Amino acid sequence: MANLRLIITLITVLICLFSSFTKSSNVIKIDLPKSLNLTLSTDPSIISAASHDFGNITTVTPGGVICPSSSADISRLLQYAANGKSTFQVAARGQGHSLNGQASVSGGVIVNMTCLTDVVVSKDKKYADVAAGTLWVDVFKKTAEEGVSPVSWTDYLHITVGGTLSNGGIGGQVFRNGPLISNVLELDVITGKGEVLTCSRQLNPELFYGVLGGLGQFGIITRARIVLDHAPKRAKWFRMLYSDFTTFTKDQERLISMVNDIGVDYLEGQIFLSNGVVDTSFFPPSDQSKVADLVKEHGVIYVLEVAKYYDDPNLPIISKVIDTLTKSLSYLPGFISMHDVSYFDFLNRVQVEENKLRSLGLWEVPHPWLNLYVPKSRIRDFHDGVVKDILLKQKTASGLALLYPTNRNKWDNRMSAMIPEIDEDVIYIIGLLQSATPQNLPEMESVNENIIRFCKDSGIKIKQYLMHYTRKEDWIEHFGSKWDDFSKRKDLFDPKKLLSPGQDIF
Ligand code: FAD
Repeated sequence: MANLRLIITLITVLICLFSSFTKSSNVIKIDLPKSLNLTLSTDPSIISAASHDFGNITTVTPGGVICPSSSADISRLLQYAANGKSTFQVAARGQGHSLNGQASVSGGVIVNMTCLTDVVVSKDKKYADVAAGTLWVDVFKKTAEEGVSPVSWTDYLHITVGGTLSNGGIGGQVFRNGPLISNVLELDVITGKGEVLTCSRQLNPELFYGVLGGLGQFGIITRARIVLDHAPKRAKWFRMLYSDFTTFTKDQERLISMVNDIGVDYLEGQIFLSNGVVDTSFFPPSDQSKVADLVKEHGVIYVLEVAKYYDDPNLPIISKVIDTLTKSLSYLPGFISMHDVSYFDFLNRVQVEENKLRSLGLWEVPHPWLNLYVPKSRIRDFHDGVVKDILLKQKTASGLALLYPTNRNKWDNRMSAMIPEIDEDVIYIIGLLQSATPQNLPEMESVNENIIRFCKDSGIKIKQYLMHYTRKEDWIEHFGSKWDDFSKRKDLFDPKKLLSPGQDIF
């Protein structure tokens, strides 16, 4: 008996030793041969920064970080990783604005893409060739100097071109111009084998379609050719309040159906919840307490947000759009507010919020965000089951809740990005952008789980955006009819499964 106990103790000690070895093997030293001519930084502050992301939920420690000076550096690294006897994996990292370690690599090499920045506008000003580590805010600044601008934007501009194109890139212009991935003409990509390939709809289309929305699985984008158009000078920016959900969504849907018509250029929507923080600052000070009272009275208030871009305020089209908004929409009488801002200030609006939150110490907190696409036919059920029955019943809600429709035909189904596989023209984009504390994070994460469960149980065919699954069957379900192509492309372009392992797909 004593012997048996001794054996069990010994086995336990061996298991512990082995598991601590495998954990520490994650931070094992990576020796890159001198011939690669790459500096692998292992400075603790650099490693620590690369171990975290905007989500502030996971910590994944890489073995080192390289700051490439050209795409050739990345190609050499990947050729070595793919052909040599080394076993490390590689993750491109933009700003690390992922939520759950998607840009991380345990014990492997992070390629800091922000080392590669450049924007070159073509002579005819129809496109810009942009290095993938460039932030969208810098794409804006450079292209605006030439009087041109990309045509679709995310709400936040301090994210990289490569990171955004690996996800999709959505915002209030999608209903007109499609997600950011729909506005790319050509890419330079370094595959998991280290090959440097240019791809487009005509050239290496399998790689082009795979990489757009491909979660970094098939190659590292080093250059993207982005569609440009005239850059307007200013934006008239409106918010209108609704107390009735159907009236709100009807107006939203009508506005996005005017896509070939004179209409708004940007459309989103927000939900104010009485158990959350209600930001009334868009309204004049004299109206702010009325807005707060309205939310208290109704429990939920819906905010329609639109913008019309313009150069010359005297053009009749501007007053026509304002007329449409003020006379034909059914918002609560009197609850409309308009700001007239520069186009840049409009696009860069989230940075103002970022600065406010940073000054309050509320930026670098856990972000259990949940982003979903919901078919139009089930948006009412989603609203009743999620907004009314889950979110409004939370003890406190913090952060922003976005809800707005967009036109499905603006997505190219050949790309990897997923939206619901249903035969409907309109899908809703939902962003439940909650901020947490380490203490209430588990509670908020369980709210997200309840939402997903509710959708599943009710047969609402949602797709998640910026998702993080850890089970293969969830990924297979996520990619649905595209899964076979997705995994074939992996075998083709990254057979050793080196790239972006933080996505946890392969
Ligand atoms: P990272 O988080 O660093 O990387 C994302 C993924 O792409 C990782 O898997 C990484 O390995 C891979 N990757 C990075 N660069 C490359 C590359 N060059 N080639 C191949 N793979 C690469 N998204 C929207 O669509 N719309 C929004 O309105 C929006 N608003 C946001 C607001 C805020 C405040 C924040 C923090 C994020 C927002 N996002 C939005 C999400 C944003 O698109 C993602 O965070 C995205 O991951 C881009 O961030 P990043 O450049 O830091 O990429």
